[in-house]
Amino acid sequence: MKGSLLYEGKAKKVYHVTDQPERLILSYKNDATAFNGKKKDQFEGKGRLNNLITSRVFDYLKLHHIPSHFIEALNDTEQLVEKTTIIPLEVVVRNVAAGSITRRLGIEEKTTFTPPIVELFYKKDELDDPIINDVHAYHLTDVSEQELTRIKEMALTINEHLIELFKQAGLQLVDFKLEFGRLKDGTIVLADEISPDTCRLWDLESGQKLDKDVFREGIGDLIETYELILQRLEENTCAK
Ligand code: ADP
Ligand code: UDP
Repeated sequence: MKGSLLYEGKAKKVYHVTDQPERLILSYKNDATAFNGKKKDQFEGKGRLNNLITSRVFDYLKLHHIPSHFIEALNDTEQLVEKTTIIPLEVVVRNVAAGSITRRLGIEEKTTFTPPIVELFYKKDELDDPIINDVHAYHLTDVSEQELTRIKEMALTINEHLIELFKQAGLQLVDFKLEFGRLKDGTIVLADEISPDTCRLWDLESGQKLDKDVFREGIGDLIETYELILQRLEENTCAK
């Protein structure tokens, strides 16, 4: 049963679970934010879509033996997960140039990266999540050199699985952000969400942007777009 509120973030609320101290409930909100909270809006139905999309993606990753916090979707907007201590890193994998890398390094949008690029950002709202290197990460978090190597390997393996999943749904996986956390015994697992809020997805045929960029850039209807992603995943992919 849902216990007290542990934390409220920009996109989700996190609750304790009564009598299960090692589990949490993630409750997906209808809020959308971009540019680290500088652009905000509310979209009826967004929480449901991101919860169902994330649940499907994590089920698929579980099938492919990726260790994660995910246990099960409880209802339309909530999911049960293992409690972790989140490592304050945003691990971004890029297959194609878009977003901040185009501005930061002057790389033209749509440039392909072979091999994919892994970038680390320090998860700290007050600092606007700055990009950091490995040595910064050892200083700012409790990850060891060996653990960071493993995190990057996991991120690249997850990338391969997600490229395939989204391809089946007629989507190109451009880039995405992952978070990792530690279980009580110290094991590092994939945590948080994987949704159109945290991935860039382009239509394989038309190249149309089908993710949070429709909100960031004001170029489309967020709910219609996220509905399309869920529908394509449900109709074309096998997660269970
Ligand atoms: P933010 O904190 O960036 O505004 P959200 O609104 O998505 O993000 O809030 C959800 C919070 O829950 C995030 O801080 C995320 O790191 C954290 N979280 C996700 N999965 C877990 C987990 N398994 N254990 C503990 N915290 C988690
Ligand atoms: N991303 C995210 N949360 C963040 C920052 C980025 O989920 O706080 C995702 C984003 O949706 C994209 C990828 O990580 O899929 C790379 O984002 P980028 O660095 O290009 O930043 P942006 O320009 O999107 O702010």
